[in-house]
Amino acid sequence: MRMSANAMKIQTLIDRLERERTLSDAELEELFAILAQAHKGPGAGKVQICADIPQAVCSEEEAILYAAARRVREQYYGKDVYLRGLIEFTNYCRNDCRYCGIRRSNKKAERYRLTKDQILDCCRQGYNLGFRTFVLQGGEDLSYTDAAICDIVSSIRALYPDCAITLSIGEKSRESYKAYKDAGADRYLLRQETSSPAHYRYLHPEELTIENRKRCLSDLKELGYQVGCGIMVGSPGQTLANVIEDLRYMQDFGPHMIGVGPFIPHKDTPFKDEAPGTLTDTLHLLAVIRLMIPGVLLPATTALGTIHPVGRELGLLAGANVIMPNLSPVNVRGKYLLYDGKICTGDEAASCRHCMDLRIARAGYKTAMVRGDCAGFAVND
Ligand code: SF4
Repeated sequence: MRMSANAMKIQTLIDRLERERTLSDAELEELFAILAQAHKGPGAGKVQICADIPQAVCSEEEAILYAAARRVREQYYGKDVYLRGLIEFTNYCRNDCRYCGIRRSNKKAERYRLTKDQILDCCRQGYNLGFRTFVLQGGEDLSYTDAAICDIVSSIRALYPDCAITLSIGEKSRESYKAYKDAGADRYLLRQETSSPAHYRYLHPEELTIENRKRCLSDLKELGYQVGCGIMVGSPGQTLANVIEDLRYMQDFGPHMIGVGPFIPHKDTPFKDEAPGTLTDTLHLLAVIRLMIPGVLLPATTALGTIHPVGRELGLLAGANVIMPNLSPVNVRGKYLLYDGKICTGDEAASCRHCMDLRIARAGYKTAMVRGDCAGFAVND
């Protein structure tokens, strides 16, 4: 079958991106524009990229991109998909990010905190289900002092020495990050959401700055964490130039993980009437990131699964290699709502785990219940 002119153009750009890990800004713009056009054009839905997932259809141009992204992810991670056990331990937050459902001025949010014993209970359940990474995520809740966080981390470290501990608790001082690291934390997730100062200002309250966010990320990396950054796709005010600026920042920074999910509005935030980000734009970006930063850990996010029934499977088929099922107690799951419609809020951890195995297998991959460190990252035990 003869390739269309656009498919040939995409093939040329993707070959170079795979080889050289970069393109000029103009070429990246052209790449995203052709992909978007192909997705809507007469060739949309022409190629089936996974026989077991009927919805896994795309244009010829997108198929070229996704095949390259899978090829590169398999060079680094084979067919393995790493699972992380997510424990959302507090939905109190001192910040007021305009897109977030647990922002401090949302008086309708039903707040909760887990005790240390509850957190350890989640870890115990997770460990018995085979999880070897725990992700402790929360708003910036100052009622957990540094000493309390260190106590929780060191207890998990002592009980589960073969597990990785990831924290995702926001902006802190370098001293705090060092204390958590010394207590046994291995990894830290802190999405910048956008690297553009003007766009950052639009999404966040005055007191938060992109400079401080980048300072945090640099401190974390210097302290020896495996560091995750990331962005929302289709957030209000986002332009393609913003996304390219993010790609440049992330490639320069060299994160170990990149969380990319679509913006989904929450009904009790200032952005409640904004349009959500799209599945397609998110998949395109995931695949381009895989080609630009090849060894990075790339989650198929819960937000992706929220905007499409097989969004996470499609994420895996676009180069993602991590999924983060929820280990939080079922009675609080529905309260950690950063956005509307979040999936998996009613399932027990065991059924989530089983469901993930099936979804991963259907996409042609296999669940790997290991720590799942970033390729090439030397872990000192
Ligand atoms: S995005 Fe994070 S820091 Fe901002 S309000 Fe939500 S939980 Fe707090």
